[in-house]
Amino acid sequence: PTDRQAQAIALEDEHAAHNYHPLPVVVAEGTGAWVTDIDGRRYLDCLAAYSAVNFGHSNPLLLDAARAQLERITLTSRAFHNDQLGPFVTELAALAGKDLVLPMNTGAEAVESAIKVARAWGYRVKGVADGRANIIVMAGNFHGRTTTIVSFSDDPDAREGFGPYTPGFRTVPYGDAEAVAAAIDADTVAVLVEPIQGEAGIVVPPPEFLPALRALCDERRVLLIADEIQSGLGRTGSTFACDLVGVVPDLYLLGKALGGGIVPVSAVVGNREVLGVLRPGEHGSTFGGNPLAAAVGRAVVALLATGEPQERAELLGRRLRADLERLIGHGVLRVRGAGLWAGIDIDPALATGREVCELLMERGVLAKDTHGATIRLAPPIVVEPADLDWAVDQLEAVLEDL
Ligand code: PLP
Repeated sequence: PTDRQAQAIALEDEHAAHNYHPLPVVVAEGTGAWVTDIDGRRYLDCLAAYSAVNFGHSNPLLLDAARAQLERITLTSRAFHNDQLGPFVTELAALAGKDLVLPMNTGAEAVESAIKVARAWGYRVKGVADGRANIIVMAGNFHGRTTTIVSFSDDPDAREGFGPYTPGFRTVPYGDAEAVAAAIDADTVAVLVEPIQGEAGIVVPPPEFLPALRALCDERRVLLIADEIQSGLGRTGSTFACDLVGVVPDLYLLGKALGGGIVPVSAVVGNREVLGVLRPGEHGSTFGGNPLAAAVGRAVVALLATGEPQERAELLGRRLRADLERLIGHGVLRVRGAGLWAGIDIDPALATGREVCELLMERGVLAKDTHGATIRLAPPIVVEPADLDWAVDQLEAVLEDL
């Protein structure tokens, strides 16, 4: 880093808790798929804030919606109604083909909310004895950072040292429907699954996995909860990753891109038989459903309702994967993905994922390693095709120099 960047990083290091290990770049501005650092150097953003910036930095449509609402009113709390929430939940429910929306802020809150809803549904509708409900979760999952969510993580960094842990979860191998079938009992209320595991390295399950879970959940009267917080809202070339295999879950969990990278907006979306179990006073959030979030969320839903981002992600994704596949055997072991979302396994004999990301940064490409030697590419969907090709050329050059 330059002296200016080193100073800015030192300032943050001095007084911000060290719960992240960022790449040494200090970003000041961004437009579309490009960001600029405090020294005026430009980088292609191939992370898009973990897919929260699917529609690009400073997206004019989203900024206009935010600006207009900023001038009107930003927060009422749910003690009163506001004139943005009604339209937002109506439009989002229609996009998802469901009846009801529970608005929250962060992804982890949507997951926590769904756990409460599933347990309440189990006790009040399915007839599970109080305190007995269990939820099936997947090995390698990532659903957020709260104490309950880390209780069912199998990533030691996320979990260890943060107990005592919340009971009521059973872990099965990801992609193994038979293991799910064996784990379900009379007290099972839900199966919680990422349709594609993001933090695990863009892990795509066998195509029959989610349809098999859907059938199992129907048969055993269990809710299927799809955490689409990273996979949803255009990233995979469809509105939801579940669409790719024709599966409709009972609850969609949405976040990240739902706030357009402007404000935190998350939601649980489902039908009345399930989400309708919540009664006034049982759940809430001061900021959940606030008019600024709802106005931005409406603009995001309107974008997705055109189908354009999904189509663009699908087209660009095909191009990206074809480009990446020619790197297999040249420093790359495997490539996985769907739509504009790729997990690239670097040959660990050559470099760690972190080292490759640092070298990419020097060449003007910002990407982030996930576990060990895997690099995730998830640029904003507005990225220009030529820029995408250029990013892969930079990766090729980095690997050649190793
Ligand atoms: N669920 C999934 C699939 C995620 O990828 C994430 C974040 O990476 C979360 C939940 C948690 O979201 P947040 O960081 O907004 O709490």
